[in-house]
Amino acid sequence: MALAAFFYSISLLFQLVTAGYAADLFFRAKVYRLACGFLALGLGLMVGRRISPLLHVLNNGHINLPDAILSMPISLCLLLGMYQLKKMLVELQEKNCILDQLSKVDSLTGALSRRETFSRAEMEIKRSLRTGHEISFLMLDIDCFKNVNDQYGHLIGDAVLVNLVKCCQEQLRAIDIFGRVGGEEFFVVLPESSGHDAFQLAERLRKHVSATETAAGYAQTISITISLGIATFNPSLVGETNSAVILKRFFKMSDDAMYQAKSGGRNRTEIWAE
Ligand code: GH3
Ligand code: MG
Ligand code: MG
Repeated sequence: MALAAFFYSISLLFQLVTAGYAADLFFRAKVYRLACGFLALGLGLMVGRRISPLLHVLNNGHINLPDAILSMPISLCLLLGMYQLKKMLVELQEKNCILDQLSKVDSLTGALSRRETFSRAEMEIKRSLRTGHEISFLMLDIDCFKNVNDQYGHLIGDAVLVNLVKCCQEQLRAIDIFGRVGGEEFFVVLPESSGHDAFQLAERLRKHVSATETAAGYAQTISITISLGIATFNPSLVGETNSAVILKRFFKMSDDAMYQAKSGGRNRTEIWAE
């Protein structure tokens, strides 16, 4: 009788831990939450089933030794299986988190990815529609970047891009959005900024970039210039309320202004005008 009670007690302990793992998984799970919930419920109820034979043994002295012996490996297998499942789901969740982060950031420069830039820009436009504050959009393109690649090679070109992003990020506020939207084209969203604010920032960026050098081999440095275009969205002046449409329109406007800066001689800032 003591042996049967011992086996049942060990099985009960295993199943309590198993149900605990399942419950923990249910509360942590961001994916497969429903499956984890059913698993936790089922395993929790099975703990109840483990108690009843134990009570039988203790109260009535009723012994079913084969069942008591079998209950141990069954509970152990459930425990090990549940433990592996928990490990697998936690690893999956961590990997998803890393992938999510990677998709938001451009791997070369550390600027936001094009997709993330647009998604955050739309959120800012929605906020602007609610609050009535202006937003400025800035398109930034490196001047004659092809020449840098042709003269120094792509690796140095890449280093120039990385340096440019660092240089710009130093000048921006935490609320500003800075994303790489093309090979050497960057889009900046400046919440709560007028055209005048944006122009001042653009000029600061332009001067800071041209004054910053990138190492290009022994005792050799490169400095680049940029051209910038600005378009400012004022919710009280624009009738449109669809954030995606507004973003598309102002992206194009800032791009057009940037091309105006190119045709005006490069290394300059232009504000969009009809
Ligand atoms: P413009 O002043 O008119 O903008 O001239 P540009 O030479 O900068 O413009 P163009 O569009 O002719 O060339 C852009 C160059 O940017 C060509 C391409 O090889 C380079 N580029 C794009 N992405 C990368 C990158 O990730 N790394 C490097 N090293 N170069 C890149
Ligand atoms: Mg260029
Ligand atoms: Mg370009």
